[in-house]
Amino acid sequence: MKLIAPDYYKDFKCIAGACRHSCCIGWEIDVDPDTLAYYHTVEGPLAERLQKGIDESADPPHFILGAYERCPFLNREGLCDLILGLGEGSLCQICRDHPRFRSFLSDRTEIGLGLCCEAAGELILKRSERTVLVELEDDDGDQLLHEADRSMLDWRRELTEMAQDRSRSIEDRAEDILETAQISLEGRSLAEWAEIYLELERLEGSWTDRLCELRDIDLQDASELDTPEWEIAFEQLLVYFLYRHLPGALDDGDYEGRAAFAVLSYRIIRALCRVHAVLHGSITLDDLVEIARQYSAEVEYSDENCGILLDALFEA
Ligand code: SF4
Repeated sequence: MKLIAPDYYKDFKCIAGACRHSCCIGWEIDVDPDTLAYYHTVEGPLAERLQKGIDESADPPHFILGAYERCPFLNREGLCDLILGLGEGSLCQICRDHPRFRSFLSDRTEIGLGLCCEAAGELILKRSERTVLVELEDDDGDQLLHEADRSMLDWRRELTEMAQDRSRSIEDRAEDILETAQISLEGRSLAEWAEIYLELERLEGSWTDRLCELRDIDLQDASELDTPEWEIAFEQLLVYFLYRHLPGALDDGDYEGRAAFAVLSYRIIRALCRVHAVLHGSITLDDLVEIARQYSAEVEYSDENCGILLDALFEA
């Protein structure tokens, strides 16, 4: 079995206490059975906190969030008391994994970093080199790549090459992908797409505000985003969405929809950057990282929200 990842993967480092949107706030984290069994064996000062900090009557058991929806083990310095007291190996599966995501194919597992983590966003969206996939591990097993997996990988490679063709503008590249997928986004205005996003389940009030601004503001000039620096940042966005979401077509068969979803996601984030520039007089790559973080947390981490958008692409 191979382990495949984007080449930036190995450079990821959680910034812990310096993180402004810690994944230890606002998310009700489930505790897997093996970790729960281990927590039952813990003795000393953390034993009682573990007992009080986990709702074991829930199915599945989860950490009980405290004030401001903070994990009960997130301390004032923004560090994890479980790591400090018991080491990284004491974390439950979800905490160990975040912000990693995985896609399972016949001869490989693909791993990546989700944009909902600001440290991952910095790494992905501020790099200038074209992203390539690398093999992190190969156990030399004799698993064979299934035909369906091969087709998906070929299709994704073709679309990724389009997304990375720097001889063309990023908008032309996005159109090339839509043409190949035979889906048009022309049927709806940005304001109409904003309405659809407003119907999705939402977490942060500031995300709702952004979508309302997108719906209400008449966007004219995008010139501040027509620079090589921004073109490359948007390329990284497109490549990220293609890498992450196309393997899902192996389950639902929606190859074209998922390709179009990548373009739609890029376009909405780009439009939100333009709204930000109009309202604040300027826009930086830091703002892009934050907008992409919100998009990722609000949209792509919800299967239900992604499903509604995939359906909407065919109704446009
Ligand atoms: S969101 Fe990312 S950087 Fe922030 S605490 Fe979680 S893993 Fe670390």
